[in-house]
Amino acid sequence: MSAPEDIANNVRMEGVLVIGGGFAGLCAAIEARRRGAAVLLAESAPPALRGGHARHARNFRIAHEAPLWHTPGAYPPAEFEADLARISDGGDAVLRRVLIAESAGIAAWLEGCGVRLQAPDVGVLPFSRRTAFLLGGGKAMINALYATAERLGVGVLYDSDIVALAPAPEGGWAVEIAAGAARCRVTARAVVVASGGPGADPAWLRAHFGPNADRVLIRGGAHSNGRLMQKLIESGAGAAGDPASCHMVAVDGRGPEVDGGIVTRITAIPHGLVVDRHGGRVEIIGAAPGKAHYAQWGQRIAQCPQGEASLILDAEGVARSLPSALPPIRRPSLEALAAALEIDAAALAGAVEAFNFDAPRPIVRAPFAAFPMRAGLTFVHFGLAVDADMRLAPNLFAAGMITAPNFFTRSYLAGLGLTLSAVTGRRAGEAAARALV
Ligand SMILES: Cc1cc2nc3c(=O)[nH]c(=O)nc-3n(C[C@H](O)[C@H](O)[C@H](O)COP(=O)(O)OP(=O)(O)OC[C@H]3O[C@@H](n4cnc5c(N)ncnc54)[C@H](O)[C@@H]3O)c2cc1C
Repeated sequence: MSAPEDIANNVRMEGVLVIGGGFAGLCAAIEARRRGAAVLLAESAPPALRGGHARHARNFRIAHEAPLWHTPGAYPPAEFEADLARISDGGDAVLRRVLIAESAGIAAWLEGCGVRLQAPDVGVLPFSRRTAFLLGGGKAMINALYATAERLGVGVLYDSDIVALAPAPEGGWAVEIAAGAARCRVTARAVVVASGGPGADPAWLRAHFGPNADRVLIRGGAHSNGRLMQKLIESGAGAAGDPASCHMVAVDGRGPEVDGGIVTRITAIPHGLVVDRHGGRVEIIGAAPGKAHYAQWGQRIAQCPQGEASLILDAEGVARSLPSALPPIRRPSLEALAAALEIDAAALAGAVEAFNFDAPRPIVRAPFAAFPMRAGLTFVHFGLAVDADMRLAPNLFAAGMITAPNFFTRSYLAGLGLTLSAVTGRRAGEAAARALV
């Protein structure tokens, strides 16, 4: 269905309206529907781009005391709690414990929705005892969840951007839906806001990330722009987190401005030397040899002149690297490589010489190669303050990354985004359905 042509104006629904058809919104919609509520889900993207950031995701973090068919070893709740504490300067310890306890049920819940997981002994993924991997990746999961939601009777509106949300005089909440120039108004008794954080709004980035903000590539979808979140804060909703703190990784500078996903991430940094556009060496203080330090590299590159840097490799470094979506730029000599990158050749030669002086594996064997890099934004540590029921106000709830700073306030743990979205989505959906009774 697409709105607003297909629905009448001034519709009053007695059920739950879920705003955002990403992972959190889908979890909320399915949970609320299973608890008997009539549910309408409004998604601003077209059907081909439904699912938000989860289209790019691969795994989710779960507490478990013993090996599971999909996740080896054990990851006891106490260890999960210690890991979360390391990335939480504030946040809510009670909510964190809820997250950990409910993470244990995500795999079974997803399987009950037709989502398939991957066994550790097949495939090439680097399995960890902390996370479960999705068979077919996030896109397959999203398709299975939409199929389940629709089979349960959840109404889905695509191309439907919620541009305003306010208390309705007759009770509940009124939203304004925009589809191009067309507008319509829907009132619902309970609403779940699952529209994602402010990652894809260039104006937001410019306001909070300084001079290189325009050089940052957005790894997730363009529709997760946080504008509804900002409107809610302007109208009195509590904010949580730091608007200038975010998770970024090094991505291929030739990738798309938006929606590059997981495949543009640069994984080969441990096999080479990073230089800025002037040929100066760029380093992470205290970096462990061989470690990827993904998030630190994103931040470091964002601070480089014009927000860019290049990874320099020799033939041996390329051979040791994982395959990449875009091939590296290859040249027979360092001089030719410098010319291709528009870096001063003498400066690059000097940086390579200094690197080779004490590097365990020097850059010596032609052909030489480079990946141009920029910072790729995954999410911002900023959102809406919620209580344990994910409540923002009476009959108004939030779920997903928009609530992340209630749980952790800096950095990231692999697989945490999906776990947080599943747990908060299900809780918000359940609480919204309960609010109707
Ligand atoms: C490249 C990449 C890889 C990732 N990999 C992983 C991983 O492997 N494991 C992991 O745990 N996490 C991963 N994450 C993070 C994870 O995908 C997110 O934390 C999670 O999917 C967030 O879900 P969400 O529903 O809260 O938000 P979003 O995914 O941002 O979804 C919000 C939805 O709301 C819609 N929307 C926004 N505004 C409106 C509006 N006004 N009206 C209507 N609809 C609106 C958007 O179109 C979108 O569909 C990854 C993220 C990225 C970017």
